[in-house]
Amino acid sequence: MNKKNLLDYLENMQEELQEISEKVWNLAEVSGKEEKSSELFRNILTDQGFTLTEVEGKDLANAFYAEYGSGSPVIAVLGEYDALPGLSQEAGTKRSPKGKNAPGHGCGHNLLGTAALGGVLAIKKYIEETGTEGTIRFYGCPEEETLVGKVKMIREGAFKDCDVALSWHPMNVNSPIETGFLANNSIKFRFSGTSAHAAQSPESGRSALDSVELMNVGANYLREHVIDEARIHYTITNAGGAPNIIPADAESWYFVRAPRRKDVEAITKRLVKVAEGAAMMTETEMEYEIIGGTYEILPNRVLFDLTDKNMQEIDPPSYTEEELQFAEEIQKSLDSDMVEGEIRKFISREDAAQPYQFEGVLSKEDSQVVEVAGSSDSGDVSWVMPMNFFLAATWPLGVPAHSWQATASSISSLGMKGMGYASKIFAGMMYDLLQSQETVDAAKDEFVQRTQNQGYVSPLDQ
Ligand SMILES: [Zn+2]
Repeated sequence: MNKKNLLDYLENMQEELQEISEKVWNLAEVSGKEEKSSELFRNILTDQGFTLTEVEGKDLANAFYAEYGSGSPVIAVLGEYDALPGLSQEAGTKRSPKGKNAPGHGCGHNLLGTAALGGVLAIKKYIEETGTEGTIRFYGCPEEETLVGKVKMIREGAFKDCDVALSWHPMNVNSPIETGFLANNSIKFRFSGTSAHAAQSPESGRSALDSVELMNVGANYLREHVIDEARIHYTITNAGGAPNIIPADAESWYFVRAPRRKDVEAITKRLVKVAEGAAMMTETEMEYEIIGGTYEILPNRVLFDLTDKNMQEIDPPSYTEEELQFAEEIQKSLDSDMVEGEIRKFISREDAAQPYQFEGVLSKEDSQVVEVAGSSDSGDVSWVMPMNFFLAATWPLGVPAHSWQATASSISSLGMKGMGYASKIFAGMMYDLLQSQETVDAAKDEFVQRTQNQGYVSPLDQ
């Protein structure tokens, strides 16, 4: 079995993979509730002869890895399967939710997990037929949308003994990605004061809500004095009960994001001072809890080059008239200025061969300007071992993640074709890594170099 046979084998598996994707899309289980989706992956992998390991730990019932092969290298492939609240949608090009606030796969994780699965199943066949040394692990990673599943898995040691990790995300273009994701912290600030009748004895009360409001004012002044790329956002999660009771308890929930983890940590320290100041002004007590946090992608040139090589080597999908029509209709359901803005995050419109669906693969140079500005707990994995990252075109140009249009596209043949392409990139990369211990070693050497001055400390332990 050579690389071409491997990719042909995977091509023949596409129908099966599409059915799995459809099942996960229909299950649409949100973060932390992915019981049936993770069970589906577990069952397929154990039926195929993979050895299952459950990841122990609090709230990690839907986390596992399934392993095949023996010896080194040990290659981790990251799979996700969680959906988003409120983004349910019937297949098709018209807005049609499945139910009020029902969840849906608006981030395409039904495709994400299945492409990873396809890659490992094909490579399993290759190892079985050729007796090649090496171990592949499919990681079932829950709770990506709440940015915490892999962070918890890392803390429980789930990724120990792996050499490299492979990952991707459904998107609007086919492209290798070297840098991306904003690092973030998710922090709850809790204030406690003294309640009193707001008219009869206001002088006896110390308002926790005043603290929250003063903290927000301070945070809004802080914005001017942080780096341009930083983002600070908040909501008030407890503001007291009634106007005539001075609130004894109040809580706000903040996200701090920036391109680099060290900036997030520095801004978080300053935000805590703002909270302390608010507590001092109002004579209340303050405590805070970092309930989650993530890292940005740590680049790895060796794996970036290998991803690019495979993306250039393996033919990306082409589309039928009907599929392009679907892409056009989906794009036209969005505001045209927003579409322009979304497209500019990936390509300049003049570069598009046709305006509705991306075709081809971005070059390494063009991939450098792609903005991947969300946050993901996959970033954390790149700080515990060398990791690659790539995007595959599963949604029409202009369709943003976390939209009903993304949910609809993730069950369309456009989504399925993108998933199929991604599964081949995984298989191709694993094939190359199993052939070349030198490449694995070079990726690991680079990782050691890059983490010399900044190691990984779990955001949950900061
Ligand atoms: Zn996602």
